[in-house]
Amino acid sequence: MYENSLEFARQCDKEDPLSEFRDKFHIPKDNKGEPLIYLCGNSLGLQPKTTSEYIKKELDDWASLGVEGHTEAEHPWLPYHEFLTEKMAKIVGAKPSEVVMMNTLTTNLHLMMVSFYQPTSSRYKIVVESDAFPSDKYAVESQLKFHGFDPKDGLILWTPREGEELCRFEDLEQIMNEQGNEIALLMIGNTNYYSGQNFPLKKIAELGHSHGSLVGFDLAHGAGNIFPDLHNTGADFAVWCSYKYLNSGPGSLAGCFVHERHANNTELNRFTGWWGHNKQTRFNMRHEFDPLPGAEGWQLSNPPILSMAAILASLDVFDEAGFQNLREKSEKLTGYLEFLVDDIGDDRIKIITPRNPEERGCQLSIQVRSANKLLHTRLTEAGVISDWREPDVVRVAPAPLYNSYEDVFHFAERLKNILANE
Ligand SMILES: *Cc1c(COP(=O)(O)O)cnc(C)c1O
Repeated sequence: MYENSLEFARQCDKEDPLSEFRDKFHIPKDNKGEPLIYLCGNSLGLQPKTTSEYIKKELDDWASLGVEGHTEAEHPWLPYHEFLTEKMAKIVGAKPSEVVMMNTLTTNLHLMMVSFYQPTSSRYKIVVESDAFPSDKYAVESQLKFHGFDPKDGLILWTPREGEELCRFEDLEQIMNEQGNEIALLMIGNTNYYSGQNFPLKKIAELGHSHGSLVGFDLAHGAGNIFPDLHNTGADFAVWCSYKYLNSGPGSLAGCFVHERHANNTELNRFTGWWGHNKQTRFNMRHEFDPLPGAEGWQLSNPPILSMAAILASLDVFDEAGFQNLREKSEKLTGYLEFLVDDIGDDRIKIITPRNPEERGCQLSIQVRSANKLLHTRLTEAGVISDWREPDVVRVAPAPLYNSYEDVFHFAERLKNILANE
């Protein structure tokens, strides 16, 4: 189905119904003005060309309206986060009432654990996947300590088997069968930032719940990449950032999902602030805290509008492209990348990301045995922006909104040349 030639790659781009979207982004260039092969959308997504207009609009409204902008701006700032909710909810497969954009990712993870990690002396353990992103691991460990538990005992790792790179669902089942009644929370990252493995979220949520544990997901590498179908998974909560696949700018605000069955749950602990309070009486500051129903009730502060404007700009691009179309292209594009990398035919190369498109997003993690960081440097010198992970893994993530089949072709050519000239 695929062919290893520039003509073939260009033909795919020509036939790609989403090819025009590349032109809606700023593509970084080398010092000769040539576009770089940017495969790092898993780390920082590129900037839509409309983002500066969206931000400038808010700056202008601030300049001309001052405080009145809260109610008089074209997109009034008081309810500004609501303009994001529906579009964001569509991308992660949630009901709008289950989603809110607020804070940053690790902050939201902590806020969610305040509510959904309420350990008892017999049920206090937390399961994470073994190669969890460091921030998530620190957050989980500190929650255990905060409640007086030792992470050495309380943190359970779902680990690949000896000699394997991917986590097997049956091993998680075994953990739950052995220790399920001591496990308070399954906190699983998806899609794993290292291996690119997309875990079966619904099965994990059902497994956790069947043992009486709560279940949360970190979708930092999932949101805007795979379709997590959050509501239907039944997960209790999820968090994600907006600056990776969601192209909303460095450090931009994060997303948070709280399943609707918890919308009015007053049994949960909650850290609170005025933005989570009933909108009608928020400014009547002498009331007892009266939480908004749904995810909005977890908000703390009035949010940074400039950052939200960048999110709105990006979500409008996603909305125009349609997430299903993006996912379809993504499977083909990453399939082409896989074909080309296999075709290099170098037996030092091993793709550790699952081969089945349903078990991965757009990222491929390419292990090059006996390579070191010099390989990454050579790729960078050759105009490829990729991610390096010690000891020997290059991570490349063709994003269907702005990467082309030609990008993927050039990446594989350059990798092949570098390996041949070693
Ligand atoms: C990118 C990423 C983070 C980063 O957290 P911030 O709070 O946004 O700095 C955390 N966890 C995972 C899984 C990530 O991929």
